[in-house]
Amino acid sequence: MESFNPFEVAQQQVLEAARLLNLDEPTRDLLLWPQREFKFTVPVKMDGGGTRVFHGYRIQYNTARGPAKGGIRFHPDETVDTIRALACWMTCKTAVADLPLGGGKGGVVCDAKRLSEGELERLSRAYVRAAAPLIGPDRDVPAPDMYTNPQIMAWMMDEYETLTGRHAPGVLTDKPMQIGGTEGRRDATARGGVITVREACRALNVDPCGTFAVQGFGNAGQRAALLHEELLGGGRCIAVCDSRGGLLNPDGFDVRELVQHKLKTGSLAGFPGKAVPREAVLETGADILYPAAMENAITSENAGRIRAKIVCELANGPTTPEADRILHRAGIHVIPDILASAGGVTVSYFEMVQDAYSFFWDEATVHARLDRQLTRACHAVQEAMAEKGVHPRLAATTVAVARVAEACKLRGWV
Ligand code: GLU
Repeated sequence: MESFNPFEVAQQQVLEAARLLNLDEPTRDLLLWPQREFKFTVPVKMDGGGTRVFHGYRIQYNTARGPAKGGIRFHPDETVDTIRALACWMTCKTAVADLPLGGGKGGVVCDAKRLSEGELERLSRAYVRAAAPLIGPDRDVPAPDMYTNPQIMAWMMDEYETLTGRHAPGVLTDKPMQIGGTEGRRDATARGGVITVREACRALNVDPCGTFAVQGFGNAGQRAALLHEELLGGGRCIAVCDSRGGLLNPDGFDVRELVQHKLKTGSLAGFPGKAVPREAVLETGADILYPAAMENAITSENAGRIRAKIVCELANGPTTPEADRILHRAGIHVIPDILASAGGVTVSYFEMVQDAYSFFWDEATVHARLDRQLTRACHAVQEAMAEKGVHPRLAATTVAVARVAEACKLRGWV
């Protein structure tokens, strides 16, 4: 197995873009490291009576283009370097989508699945008490990520507002609709991904109505499967998998029924189709592959067996660097995570705007603005690919790094 540090991977990507742009050394050095890092202890009273001390982080990678923006994860494998990497990718994501935001990320090292609802609420509130001096609508705006959700955002917002004594719904995004959330946030990541697939299909002359496969059948994966058919006017979903196993159907699943089944039973098992190991879903030969699970799904071990024309990275960092090279050599078009999954943070930005005005848009407006923003981002990346003769990930990183570097320069930081 390849072993690597995700932050070193992120730094390598920034470095490659900086070289291509001929950035001067101070600018490059500035972009290679987070601007600020915070680490705190998060004590939580547990249901059993004792107190457990968790470890929490918030990293503001770069704020030259606007407030830091990015999710908070509750995950047992969190380390300072995964959060640094994710914060760096958020900086690139907001920049490639051309949002007036910087990038950040946070996390708590914990196994959220084993916490009760009460413990989760106390953990969320304790995190905000620790992070309150650092966050705010004009400073740093968290959102959900792995194992965090709108309910957790509601508790966090409430804690922040209680501490500061005023309403500040824009302190974080992806809140429930009733308390300052926006229309269109729940499917925004998947919708954005499908928009980037549409644009890649146009550019490469690939028929979007062929076959597709979805690796990871959580929120993003389920919605991508539904939206692929809806937005692209067809397509056959021939393979899906979740953390427990995979399912094939060469004739194509009824995606609506499959999603219902997964939501009802929590699993894919029992749905008509051929049960296969999880990994098999990557190798079906579907035209379009959506990795929508976690980091490191596509590795040097399995990349050689992928036969998709387009890979749309809905997850953050699903492809290892070596796998990336293998896919590139095989002529597979990888829509990089910083572009493919930028729909979520784009609609988060729309939520911040609506909260600031206390005036809310309808769903059609959110969808239309998301489409416009991401289509533009796709075109900027396609132009960079053509101009510099590089693959899509490097092109997207280059667009992002150029924008962040320019903001740093204008501010006189370097
Ligand atoms: N966690 C999501 C991401 O990785 C959304 C971040 C946000 O909306 O701030 O893009």
